[in-house]
Amino acid sequence: MKNYGELKKLLFSKSLKKISEKTITIHYDKLYDGYIKKWQEIEEKLKLIDKSSANATFSDLRELKVEESFTANAIILHEAYFDILGGNGEIEGEIIEIIKKDFGSFEAWLEDFKALGLCSRGWTVLGYDFNDGKLRNFLLDTHNLYGVLGTSPILVMDMYEHAYFIDFGSDKKSYIEAFFENLDWKIINKKFQKIVKDNN
Ligand code: FE
Repeated sequence: MKNYGELKKLLFSKSLKKISEKTITIHYDKLYDGYIKKWQEIEEKLKLIDKSSANATFSDLRELKVEESFTANAIILHEAYFDILGGNGEIEGEIIEIIKKDFGSFEAWLEDFKALGLCSRGWTVLGYDFNDGKLRNFLLDTHNLYGVLGTSPILVMDMYEHAYFIDFGSDKKSYIEAFFENLDWKIINKKFQKIVKDNN
């Protein structure tokens, strides 16, 4: 069971292909760890909140709940992103067949996913939508903006500048190619199987 207040270990050494150790160190040790700490702080503050001042324009309760959703999604998405890195990029497994079924072909899915990467200001996600039982690509401009309720992330690409700017400058396309070179499709398949089979 997930504990938002607990750091999830990195499953790979920080030396990826083309994505530097410096980038991963800042991303994991500083930024991701920072979200965990803020989650703990928000939960502590929520315990003490004065609910009699609840208000939709501004209230401490409202602001904390908004940032709680921001922080929870930041944790979920970063863990999903780090989980699938450290592989050799070799595309394999059952999920490929489902991608072909839901998107027409693997190439059509890949073209859509990479294009969404260029459109996104935050995240690009391949997720399983429990509402219709299909895989879906979507983008989020920040952790809690434009996600689809009932969709579970499987393949998550961080498109915030901190994920690529040190190594690639503004060249998002090269970062996206490097991201795919480092994917572990065995883990992506395991995630897909766990999400779909445990919940259907
Ligand atoms: Fe990030």
